[in-house]
Amino acid sequence: MFRDYLDLLKKVDDFTNNLKAKHNEKITCHSGCSKCCITGITVWKIEFDHLQTNSPSYKLTSPPDDSSRCKFLNANGLCSIYKIRPLVCRLWGLPLMIGPDTADSLHKLDSSITKNGSGSVLMCCDLNFDGDISKAALPANDLLNADLVLTTLAAINHVYCEKFDSDVTKRFSIESII
Ligand code: SF4
Ligand code: SF4
Repeated sequence: MFRDYLDLLKKVDDFTNNLKAKHNEKITCHSGCSKCCITGITVWKIEFDHLQTNSPSYKLTSPPDDSSRCKFLNANGLCSIYKIRPLVCRLWGLPLMIGPDTADSLHKLDSSITKNGSGSVLMCCDLNFDGDISKAALPANDLLNADLVLTTLAAINHVYCEKFDSDVTKRFSIESII
């Protein structure tokens, strides 16, 4: 039921592991940093169903005192559902190449987002790569094609929703499973 989704997660994890093997000294994203773990994260239907199906195997933490934090953070600042966390949680720290169409929209929203010669945008969490992904000078093969990953996820979700007669456009709060 979740095979295509799990294949996509594995491909992203393989990319991450390869990136660490090649550029570990440049990567400053680390276990224990959880600044990106904020409340209100939403996902597509297939991701939500995957979380809901698998979460009984995990000890879900009680909500942290700080209501701005994701409810899956445990007292040590670690993700209590790390192995089944959704795609967005796996992508945030990675060097993402955003194609020209999406880059245009981002640039309109925030003019400080600068496009490169091909019209694309390179993005990464501000706290990773010492806060300046451009200085890491990663080769093109070590940048993740975010458009491709997100389009693939949307296609997988579409097929899944058609099978279960669900609304393909609907987003779900991950914290609502607690
Ligand atoms: S699900 Fe886990 S990785 Fe994702 S925001 Fe919540 S605590 Fe962080
Ligand atoms: S993606 Fe950024 S905020 Fe999130 S854990 Fe990594 S360095 Fe910290």
